[in-house]
Amino acid sequence: MLDIVVYGGTAVLPSGPEPADIGVAGERIAAIGAPGSLAALGARRVVDAAGQIVIPGGIDPHVHCNWPMPMPGVAQPTLTEPASRVSLAALHGGTTTTIDFAPVEGGDTIQQAIERRQRQWAGACYGDYAFHTMLLGKIAPERLGELAEAVQAGHASVKMFTTDITPSRKGRMVDFGDIWEVLKVLAHAGGIAAIHAEDNDIVMHMYEKLFREDRTGFENMAEVHNTLSEDLSFNRVIRLAANIEGSALYMMHTSAATGVAAIAAARAKGVPIYGETLHQYLMYTAEDYKKPNGQIYHTYPSLKFKADQEALWKATDHGAIQTVATDEICCPLRIKLQGRRIDDTTGGNAGVEPRLSLIYTETVEKRGYGLSEFVGLVSANAAKIMGLYPRKGALAVGSDADIVLLDPRRRKTVRAAELHEADYTPWEGRDLAAWPSLTMLRGKIVVEGGTFTGDLKDGQFLPRKVPDEIRARPVV
Ligand SMILES: [Zn+2]
Ligand SMILES: [Zn+2]
Repeated sequence: MLDIVVYGGTAVLPSGPEPADIGVAGERIAAIGAPGSLAALGARRVVDAAGQIVIPGGIDPHVHCNWPMPMPGVAQPTLTEPASRVSLAALHGGTTTTIDFAPVEGGDTIQQAIERRQRQWAGACYGDYAFHTMLLGKIAPERLGELAEAVQAGHASVKMFTTDITPSRKGRMVDFGDIWEVLKVLAHAGGIAAIHAEDNDIVMHMYEKLFREDRTGFENMAEVHNTLSEDLSFNRVIRLAANIEGSALYMMHTSAATGVAAIAAARAKGVPIYGETLHQYLMYTAEDYKKPNGQIYHTYPSLKFKADQEALWKATDHGAIQTVATDEICCPLRIKLQGRRIDDTTGGNAGVEPRLSLIYTETVEKRGYGLSEFVGLVSANAAKIMGLYPRKGALAVGSDADIVLLDPRRRKTVRAAELHEADYTPWEGRDLAAWPSLTMLRGKIVVEGGTFTGDLKDGQFLPRKVPDEIRARPVV
């Protein structure tokens, strides 16, 4: 007997949306059948999904929990909210998997860095999770051997910065020689590189220039973290990768038309490269920095301009952008507003909860995207690129029963007070065309009608392996 049957809804299957019943046994999807066929067999629990869209749980491939928020002159930076808070919010909004980061710092081996992060998350996260290994600064040669082992052990992606981001955050940037070596290791071991690409020379030059001109307000951020920087750095990383057989790239938080163009050109040549953008880049521009509390819209690199936003949107429609992430930094408004300058404004923002409904509203409702395209942007594509598919990101027999019922009758207006993240939201007052009525994590209903029944023991670490096909050419 099945444990749960979800019937009567429009299920977004890998083959496309269709009316279907979904049967769950234990933690997995055990059967998918014609409407009414599984419901007739009976189950311990039968869920009526009539009028609703049934999708695989959302995947946010870019979040930061327990993350230091640096302030120049402050020795002990405040930490962002932990995984318990972020995953609670994520599940309420229909996201069942988040990918955070394991920074390799000090004298840590890569394995130590990952294990340290896993200890923090174990029993402390309501949803499933994984980490991008994050390499910082000068890479010691012995790290390269450890990296190959880590990839083979299921830690498939490695984040690197091509910039220190701000003048006070020295030590993040990985120099090009080291990136080259890491890409070679990843190509050989079967991993993928996740790059924060900005041209450090241009960015630091602009910091100096704006400080000299006494134009240090954060509303000038797009002049510092600018479109030319994205052009130069994306193309430089792409040229490097294109010289290494089997080198796959995931460009994080693509923010400009120049970045989109760089990814598109590389994809046209068959380079296995994938683009991530953030929902704030799709919905706000540098003009919004001028609003009251304009910092709440900011995420590094920076908001850009109308033409950039249009290019990003166009690229989400079978173009250079495959995923829409949050770059979640969950903190109180007071902390988000603590910096006011181009060099001290807190990046990231609270968004993991409304992301899925916001993207549904912006794609399906406002732009006429198909349901499969929407599911691709918020779940399936991240699963494929990051090596979780088809365990995650698919309503298919054998997949984890991470199932979300998205209800287009539950229209609502975003209010921070009704969310589970922070005391503010950059989407305050936005209308949503749907909201999840139910979230299931590996066969357990964890949110139903707004009532949370999850447990901190529910979340599991997810080992990942990027398929050779994903690393051979741009297939997503
Ligand atoms: Zn970044
Ligand atoms: Zn980030």
